[in-house]
Amino acid sequence: MGAITCKFGGTSLADGECIKKVADIVHSSPDRKYIVPSAPGKRHPNDKKITDLLILWHSIAKEGLDSSEPEKIIRERFRSIVAELKIELDIDSEIDEIANSATLYETPDFMASRGEYLNGKIIAKYLNATFIDPGKYILFDETGNLDPKTYNILGEKLQGSGLFVVPGFYGSMPDGSIKTFPRGGSDITGSIVARATKSVLYENWTDVDGFCMADPKIVPNPKKIEEITYQELRELSYMGATVLHDESIFPVMEFGIPIHIKNTHNPSAPGTLIVKNRVPKGPVCGIAGMGGFSMINIEKTFMNKERGFGLKVLSVLDEYDVRWEHMPTGIDTLSIIIRNNELGSKGPLIVESLKKRCDTQDVYLIRGLAMIATVGLGMNHHIGVAARLFTALANAGVNVRVIDQGSSEMNILVGVEESDLEKSIRAIYEAFVDWE
Ligand code: ASP
Repeated sequence: MGAITCKFGGTSLADGECIKKVADIVHSSPDRKYIVPSAPGKRHPNDKKITDLLILWHSIAKEGLDSSEPEKIIRERFRSIVAELKIELDIDSEIDEIANSATLYETPDFMASRGEYLNGKIIAKYLNATFIDPGKYILFDETGNLDPKTYNILGEKLQGSGLFVVPGFYGSMPDGSIKTFPRGGSDITGSIVARATKSVLYENWTDVDGFCMADPKIVPNPKKIEEITYQELRELSYMGATVLHDESIFPVMEFGIPIHIKNTHNPSAPGTLIVKNRVPKGPVCGIAGMGGFSMINIEKTFMNKERGFGLKVLSVLDEYDVRWEHMPTGIDTLSIIIRNNELGSKGPLIVESLKKRCDTQDVYLIRGLAMIATVGLGMNHHIGVAARLFTALANAGVNVRVIDQGSSEMNILVGVEESDLEKSIRAIYEAFVDWE
């Protein structure tokens, strides 16, 4: 078939038993060639993630306080993994070395990356694979963005026979210092490795059976999504559907390398395949929503005839350094939807500035808004989708505060009161789950 890159998440590698399962998965296909591990994650809900402990270790040590507690927990965790796997690896010397560097750097990046580094060493040993340190081959530029020459340099290093293990989550800056991706960023490393090696598939092994049509915490037993496009997934992740780090789509998207989300603890489940294009079975593939939005409404008669009106509005937001999400408009109204954490306490000040700049008293700040995205490639040219959606919301007694639909015709966004969020998602799900 061609090479496969497999990324395994922290819960897939939480202890020796998990790593044995991972080895079985890797060995079950000769195409699984590039392995990208996370640091050991939680074994049970009250457990600690190794990455969190490493960051804690760094911050305590930097303050000149006693960091022996996190160090001890980390040491014992890795010792027990090495013992369970019965491999020859001097894990104590490795951890001593990390301890010696705990206060060397101002930022936590180096320490945070050591979970992946050590787990990578262990897994490489257990799988008899070549260990490749991404600190030398995944390169960031001066501004902290991935340097595109990474793909060639890493791709060359990953030539040859046998298995390769490339720890996730980090690379290095031009001065050689270690830099991590954002939290959950081993997914991004997996995508970079898949592209650099021209893999035919990027398997992302996690602890769920894939994406669901709606959040299982809101809709009991929702339908699984077996296939979804990169773009559909982007729309859903934007509204909080997180199984995969949203930045991890980009390296593979350009080359059309599919991403397969699979469950390490249930490998025979079909999972979710993320592809460039698909033939949709029904109009809607997923529904996701979240609270935490505010809306600024501006009303002014004949605003549509006033040249530069939108520019004035956006210049105010720019002055307050606030990013906005959506801007639905009517002939005499314009609304701007902003995330609360972006708006902070600036809302009333922005309202006053808008009143002056736009020369109208009718500017209102509305808080407590939730946004819901109903997403699906199959909506395009499918008559009656909006009618069904709004009928479902009306029947559920939901007052729709705002509507926005992108020109791509694959996402209808509605804003509702936060208290109506779950009810709305359930109503939309029921309306579309069996509609083909
Ligand atoms: N270990 C890192 C974290 O906890 C990266 C990852 O697991 O993807 O964020």
